[in-house]
Amino acid sequence: MAFGKCPMCKLDKKLVKSHLIPRALYNYCRAADSEPVLITTKVMVQSSKQTKDHLLCSDCEGVLNEGGEKWLLPKLATIEGKFPFLDILRLKPPKFAEPDLVVCAAATNPGIRVDKLVHFGLGMFWKASVHHWGFVSDETLIDLGEYGEKVRAFLKGEADFPDDIALTLYVSPPPTTLISFFQPFEGKAAADDLRLFYFYVCGLRFTLSISKNIGDLRSICLHSNLEHLILVEDISQEIKATFQEAAKTAKKSEKLLQYMNKRKP
Ligand SMILES: [Zn+2]
Repeated sequence: MAFGKCPMCKLDKKLVKSHLIPRALYNYCRAADSEPVLITTKVMVQSSKQTKDHLLCSDCEGVLNEGGEKWLLPKLATIEGKFPFLDILRLKPPKFAEPDLVVCAAATNPGIRVDKLVHFGLGMFWKASVHHWGFVSDETLIDLGEYGEKVRAFLKGEADFPDDIALTLYVSPPPTTLISFFQPFEGKAAADDLRLFYFYVCGLRFTLSISKNIGDLRSICLHSNLEHLILVEDISQEIKATFQEAAKTAKKSEKLLQYMNKRKP
C-alpha cells in the first residue's frame, strides 16, 4: 500500500496503481501469438508488463476513467479488424471528403462524445507530464511547463479548456490502421514559439499544440472549433516512420530483437 501526494487533487491520500496506458488497451493491441509492442523515444520493449505505478488516488483515477477512458477504449481499432469509433464517425456524412482526407464535424454526430475524446487526449498528455512511468527514472515523459497545471485543472473540472493550446485528432482508417500504442512524446515544431506533442493509440493520433500565438491551430482544434472537427486520413506511414525513428534511438530489448528476427521473411 502506498501513501503520498496525488498530483491531480494534490491531497495526501492512499495511492492506487495507475497505468499510463489504460489496462484494457493491452487486450486490443495483443495478437493471439504475441505480446503488444510498446515503442517510446526512450526504450522499445515487447512486453505485457504494463507501465504502471502508484500515482493517483482512486478518486482521481475515477476522474480519468469516467472522463474519457471508459467511453473511448472499447471503440478503438482492434487486432481483429474492428474499429467501432470509425463506424460511429461514418454514420453521418462528412463535412468534406477528398480522396486522401476526410473531415468530419463531430458536432453533427450525436454518437461522438467530444467531451470524452478531449478528456482522454489531455489526460494521456497530462499523465505523461507528471511521471516517468518506469522508462527513465526522475524524468517525466514530456514537460508541459506551466500548461501542466492548466491541463490538470481542466481534467479535474476546476478550469475551462486552457488558452494557448489546441488538440487535434486524426483517425487512421483500415486497412492500414496500426494496432499499437505510441506513448506521448514531444516532436519538432516549425516555429520557436510552438511546441508539439503526440501520442497514437490503435487508430487515433492526438496532437497537442501549445503556443502563445495558437491562432489558426484553433480552427482545427477538436474542442475549440464549434464543429469539433475530426480528420480521417491514412497516416500509417507517418506513424511507422515515427516508430522507426524512435526505434533507432531506443534501447531495444533482447526479447523484442528475437521477435523481430523471427518475423523476418
Ligand atoms: Zn487525487
